Amino acid sequence: MPGFELFGPEERKEVNDVLETGILMRYGFDGPRKGIWKSKELEAAICQRFGCNFAQLTSSGTSALTTALTVLGIGAGDEVIMPAFTFVASFEAVLSVGAIPVLAEVDETLTLQPDSVRQAITSRTKCVMPVHMCGAMADLDALLAICKEHNLLLLEDACQSIGGRYKGRHLGTIGNAGTFSFDFVKVITCAEGGAVLTNDEATYTKCDGFTDHGHDHTGVDRGADLHPFIGYNYRISELHAAVGLAQIRKLDQFLAIQQKNHGQLKTILSQLPEVSFRTIPDPSGDSCTFLSWLLPSETLTRAVIAELKSQGILAGNFYWFDNNWHYIRKWDHLRQASTLNNLNDGQRQALQKLSVTTFPASDRVMSRCISTAIGLLWTEEQTQEKGEKIVAAIKKALSRELVN
Ligand SMILES: *Cc1c(COP(=O)(O)O)cnc(C)c1O
Repeated sequence: MPGFELFGPEERKEVNDVLETGILMRYGFDGPRKGIWKSKELEAAICQRFGCNFAQLTSSGTSALTTALTVLGIGAGDEVIMPAFTFVASFEAVLSVGAIPVLAEVDETLTLQPDSVRQAITSRTKCVMPVHMCGAMADLDALLAICKEHNLLLLEDACQSIGGRYKGRHLGTIGNAGTFSFDFVKVITCAEGGAVLTNDEATYTKCDGFTDHGHDHTGVDRGADLHPFIGYNYRISELHAAVGLAQIRKLDQFLAIQQKNHGQLKTILSQLPEVSFRTIPDPSGDSCTFLSWLLPSETLTRAVIAELKSQGILAGNFYWFDNNWHYIRKWDHLRQASTLNNLNDGQRQALQKLSVTTFPASDRVMSRCISTAIGLLWTEEQTQEKGEKIVAAIKKALSRELVN
């Protein structure tokens, strides 16, 4: 990761097709666009590549989540169970539809711990939203079983795991709906964009209208469209879709490089008995976007981070426990309900409760976890060198620990 590392003539060619006609919008202008429909082409490519029946492009991964929640009927008063470790977009989307984010613990899968999900279920729970963090998947069999038992929807946030699979099916296509992000640092990028994936036609039809002001897209022109429900503008532009089209064609190449570099790095770190790796429910489905590894204690992990920093090689190694964007510990704005407008009563009460809730099980995992982002441009020698430097940093921290 990320796809921007291999941006090239293919992306420029697709964008130029759009610039030649000047039709930058994905709908209408049938004559002047001269048969150029990049958004439709990318949606078809997504369905084909990931084996789902329908895909709706959106302006971002965040708007894809907002769209998915809305079309699944999740709104005011409904509770959505999501992990304490994710990107801020997950709770932003839940709050934006008027629903209540209920945070559950994560385990060494780096996402929802099934028992914690069970404990979080109330009569208001409507949806479970696992986030396939850092390239690999949630324990989907366990979560699907819970959803079935309690009649809940499953929405997969697969924004970080494009190309990952679980037991032969692509992440994002297994729940009632799934989302991708194509923002600038994702597996494949189109600068800003996202997608909702689903196998259910009614869900898709709602996405199609909701992301375009409720248009039913059945009129002979946009002016003749009816509006069966209220929507918003979460459209993608043809310029963005054009970049995405070139990138999706490179996805297999990206995944092959990631697998190779990830495998090499993992072999090097495996030398140390102190290093363990995140739990991956289906290891063959890892997109290998990150190598996430764990050490025995928070103290040691902090010492390794300090060592990597002092050697100037911290970049690309993420200690999420201290990160402002990804873990509950630093989401003060969420806990304090710092919003610019009024929340509804249910949301306010839930955030008050969250402000005094602790996540000891998640802390035990996240305080010991480092994720190394896998580069697409690393040579074998560079990967070797990176691995050896990390191993040296861990050994140094271990030897200091012995002295102290
Ligand atoms: C990137 C990301 C999103 C949101 O995507 P944007 O396109 O940046 O809005 C949502 N969830 C997760 C887990 C992400 O990593």
